[in-house]
Amino acid sequence: MSDDRFKAIGMGDITMPGGWSVNDGQTFLYTDAEREIMHQSRAFAQREILPLAAAAHAQVKEIKTRHDGKVRREKLRAIARDYLRLLGEAGLTGALFPEEYGGNGRGVLAECIIDEELAAAGHPGDTIRSVSLTLGTISILRYGTPEQKKRHIPPRLRGDELAALAITEPQIGSDTSRMQTKAVLKGDRWVINGQKRFITGGGLADYLTLFAITEEGAHPHKGMSTFIVPMDHPGVTIQRQLDEVIMADWMDNAWIDFKDVDIPRDNLLGPLNGGYHVLMDELDTERVTYCMAALGSARRALEIAAEYSTKRIQFKQPIAMFSSSPSPCSKVCPSSWRRCTRRWTPPASSSTAPPRWSRRGSPHSASRR
Ligand SMILES: Cc1cc2nc3c(=O)[nH]c(=O)nc-3n(C[C@H](O)[C@H](O)[C@H](O)COP(=O)(O)OP(=O)(O)OC[C@H]3O[C@@H](n4cnc5c(N)ncnc54)[C@H](O)[C@@H]3O)c2cc1C
Repeated sequence: MSDDRFKAIGMGDITMPGGWSVNDGQTFLYTDAEREIMHQSRAFAQREILPLAAAAHAQVKEIKTRHDGKVRREKLRAIARDYLRLLGEAGLTGALFPEEYGGNGRGVLAECIIDEELAAAGHPGDTIRSVSLTLGTISILRYGTPEQKKRHIPPRLRGDELAALAITEPQIGSDTSRMQTKAVLKGDRWVINGQKRFITGGGLADYLTLFAITEEGAHPHKGMSTFIVPMDHPGVTIQRQLDEVIMADWMDNAWIDFKDVDIPRDNLLGPLNGGYHVLMDELDTERVTYCMAALGSARRALEIAAEYSTKRIQFKQPIAMFSSSPSPCSKVCPSSWRRCTRRWTPPASSSTAPPRWSRRGSPHSASRR
């Protein structure tokens, strides 16, 4: 099809504006300052991260195919650290953390905006970023001693230390209150025994934020505590990398065993037997930030679909024009789909004029006319 008949959409055209309501009223939900954060993080993610993402995925896949055990973990860890360092230098890692610990204190909404933009750029290290900086570290900020905060938060924001969150066990998933991993105080050391499964980034982490039962027989909400556990400690072993949980080019998910892991008493995080509240507070932040990351990934999928379906020609027209093609995309987010595509106007039967694309309207609506 010649250019005068069809103008395909390129990635530059279709990157969607953030912060719009999903309704047709097109109300901006963000303040000017928040929009500025969105523009900055989007520009960085699109310019600096997106071009690296495909090669990084291929590299991760190759490492996972060729290497096992410690070598594999070291190689994957290097990719995750490089990614975090890049983000740290750009000031994109510290929104949840105050300046005194190396952050910028811009808050949870800023973190959400950044999460969406980074997820849309699709680097494999981004799962490690969220487990290390949000899931594994936010409880240290909220419940840690000044020493714990000073020791762990700044190196994590720089990408020098990686963390993961360990809640799930082979026998417990949604019902976190029934966990079986136990920590017993012996002298001035906590001794941990149990298993944690499905731990994202567990194989790459330097430390886990781990939940364990500290008072058996108490109500589960009142007998759980939180610990900072070094992964290189004797008794901590990776039983298995769970590659079946995640795709081959994602980074890491681990099943970890703890056998008589004795850590200093000071590694208790937050109040003794107050772990359930620490956990619920962490999940509150995790849920909202992960939602935004999911939104970013979905947005990227929609952008790719919009680009492909306006470039792919079958039966002399872009496949976006066939009634079935745009439907899934336009159902995911009708207003975004409308914004990221242009309406193709078929020539009037009596006219010899070429078909036109306009900025407004959707292929879906065009196909229904
Ligand atoms: C890719 C991936 C990454 C993960 N990363 C981590 C991590 O970093 N750290 C960590 O600790 N865990 C992690 N998990 C574990 C995750 O948190 C658990 O999978 C989750 O808590 C659910 O537990 P489960 O899989 O055992 O399912 P189950 O709890 O056995 O639930 C099975 C099904 O029953 C449904 N169900 C359960 N309870 C109810 C209810 N009350 N009402 C209605 N339906 C119910 C669930 O919705 C689900 O569909 C990860 C899991 C995956 C798949």
